[in-house]
Amino acid sequence: MTDALPQSVRAQLDDPFTELSGSLATARHLDLAVVESLRLSPTFQQVVLTSPDLDGFSYNPGQDVMLLVAADGRRPVRRRYTIRSFDPAARALTVIAVLHGDGPGERWISSAAPGDRIAGIGPRGKITTLPGADWHLFLGDESAMAAILHMAEALPGDADASLIIEVPDPDDEQELLAPARTRLTWLHRIGGRAGDPALLAAEAAEVDLPPGDGHAYVFGEASVVLALREILTGRGLRQDQISAKSYWGRGRANAGHGEPAKDS
Ligand SMILES: Cc1cc2nc3c(=O)[nH]c(=O)nc-3n(C[C@H](O)[C@H](O)[C@H](O)COP(=O)(O)OP(=O)(O)OC[C@H]3O[C@@H](n4cnc5c(N)ncnc54)[C@H](O)[C@@H]3O)c2cc1C
Repeated sequence: MTDALPQSVRAQLDDPFTELSGSLATARHLDLAVVESLRLSPTFQQVVLTSPDLDGFSYNPGQDVMLLVAADGRRPVRRRYTIRSFDPAARALTVIAVLHGDGPGERWISSAAPGDRIAGIGPRGKITTLPGADWHLFLGDESAMAAILHMAEALPGDADASLIIEVPDPDDEQELLAPARTRLTWLHRIGGRAGDPALLAAEAAEVDLPPGDGHAYVFGEASVVLALREILTGRGLRQDQISAKSYWGRGRANAGHGEPAKDS
């Protein structure tokens, strides 16, 4: 059993999230333990976490948990992972992380073993599905797979959704169990570079945008998210019809609070 960060180190941190207030007022500190860690494919590691702190936990699909994966001196290094599923009876929260190469989040996730402990904060994030939308369009890369699958699965049976997810290889495809009418397209990069907009941009330019007040959800690499947003607004979607969120930035580690670093 290993602590991601021993309590003695955590106690010394200059931590902006000691008190949860403002947009984090509904989140809670979670003292999490790994129940299971499973390699789903060469790209994905699934980790199941539990905690007594998850008693009565509630969240909206699309929200995430922020894990304290390391420290940089006295600065906490946190990484955010979308909740793929939550079992209230077992108090078990599942995340699926991309094994992209290297980084403090990847290092912790790839070596996580049952019994390992980590501090988390959740739920985080504002974006969830808009149940009243006439149709739903999800676009994202592998970092957004958990979010897209979970959000689509949470839609009611009479909802209509298109999901377009870019992954490295066909082996990375995961099952979708959604009551809604869904069309799921997997784009395979096959040796291409993560964070290249080409595949998703081509789909965004071509995908059917039915009449009515639909909603698009766009997640993934920062410059790709920007490019997709521009394509969709160019095709006539209003800004308020698009929920977009940058999950990572190519060539740059995320900031200590888990979001892509802003230009300094
Ligand atoms: C709200 C939110 C929800 C998220 N949900 C998930 C999720 O469910 N699953 C998930 O895997 N990720 C998710 N992410 C993205 C994840 O937090 C980032 O990928 C993060 O950078 C990983 O941290 P790290 O320490 O491994 O790498 P970092 O230290 O941040 O980065 C190190 C290097 O790796 C590169 N890198 C980082 N991520 C990727 C990637 N996905 N592909 C290729 N290169 C990369 C960076 O460009 C950098 O060069 C989410 C992010 C946010 C903000």
